[in-house]
Amino acid sequence: MKIETKCLHSGYTPKNGECRNMPIYQSSTYRYDSPEHIGKLFDLAVEGHMYSRISNPTVAMVEAKIADLEGGIGALCTTSGQAASMISVMNIAKAGDNIVASSEIYGGTINLFAVTMKKLGIEVTFVNPEASLKELQKSIKKNTRLVFGETIANPSISVLDIEKFAKLAHDNDIPLIVDNTFATPVLCRPFEYGADIVIHSTTKYMDGHALQIGGVIVDSGKFNWKNGKYPELTEPDPSYHGLSYTESFGDLAYITKARVQLMRDIGAYPQAINAFLLNMGLETLAVRMERYCSNAEKVADFLSKSDKIEFVNYPTVKGNKYGKLAKKYLSKGCSGVISFSIKGDRSNAVRFMNSLKLASNEVHVADIRTCVLHPASATHRQLTDEQLIAAGITPGLIRFSVGLENVDDILEDIEQALANV
Ligand SMILES: *Cc1c(COP(=O)(O)O)cnc(C)c1O
Repeated sequence: MKIETKCLHSGYTPKNGECRNMPIYQSSTYRYDSPEHIGKLFDLAVEGHMYSRISNPTVAMVEAKIADLEGGIGALCTTSGQAASMISVMNIAKAGDNIVASSEIYGGTINLFAVTMKKLGIEVTFVNPEASLKELQKSIKKNTRLVFGETIANPSISVLDIEKFAKLAHDNDIPLIVDNTFATPVLCRPFEYGADIVIHSTTKYMDGHALQIGGVIVDSGKFNWKNGKYPELTEPDPSYHGLSYTESFGDLAYITKARVQLMRDIGAYPQAINAFLLNMGLETLAVRMERYCSNAEKVADFLSKSDKIEFVNYPTVKGNKYGKLAKKYLSKGCSGVISFSIKGDRSNAVRFMNSLKLASNEVHVADIRTCVLHPASATHRQLTDEQLIAAGITPGLIRFSVGLENVDDILEDIEQALANV
């Protein structure tokens, strides 16, 4: 099946007389005939659902669909993108270990890595993603357990050279984890370029309708965990009578451990109704991504021609430094988020924001409706203009998430708002 077809048909195939739509199995628990059978479930000796903190039939169908969309062998849904990032790392890194992450990643992930993970004893080294492989190699230590990057970074809209990062990881016998939230598997499948694990905030394009927070971890099944660096996957787990994940589950070791050990202990698993709603977003993902891309390309082009705009960050804009990487990794389009800067101090950007009639002020991206955020008024409001510039954010920077409206209406809104600046 092609990706558009997988969006609709993967994960659930009704048999004769069964529901056309994916059923919602809204239940926290499951009935079994005997305590012996439940004992086997606890030993992970038979497959089955035991408790909805670990797995659920509706969530499992959506996990199968997302794994198929990314070309992976298994997936684990989580209650947020943050939980997906956290579990994907904690599954293979512990106190005393190091991780290497691109500095061009989502701010929430930077907080998670630099503050919370640090408290847990995991050290993070942030690297400039544009550095050469030789330069990047210097960041890898003996205790480095993974490399982390973001396909299209939120909010800088930089494009990750996935093959370079995969080579860095594999030269050192460690896996590459890629946050593929903005690209979605419709625009880019990082496994095809060597990534080993993919994560998403499904809150964004996958859900698409701003209905609910969610996340997912997908396993390519290709990484060799038996290289001596991952005892948590190869050595006996005392919480399962000494079971070894690589011995018992083979290629599925990573994603199985994330579920039966970490998810069991942390409990960040979505409910059946959440998975059902996510599935409705996934069904139209491929069609929506096409429109997000074409609308955003036109909006970026329009903005780049205005004399009130200082710069526009979007890979299809002439002269954008990520144009070449985008051609390679994002040949179908560069997704729907643009960042641009209005000339002058932050009051000009505020005037522009206040003048918008269609686009709404929101702390969100990737909605079906156009939404905008002014970091200097919101996420970075404590900083002075000088501090903003030092942080790589101009006072006039606006994050513009292009929706599925008719593009002429979006452009008209921008034009009239710019006239007030
Ligand atoms: C939003 C976002 C996250 C965090 O996801 P939540 O669902 O908000 O927890 C992680 N990565 C990227 C790229 C995001 O845009």
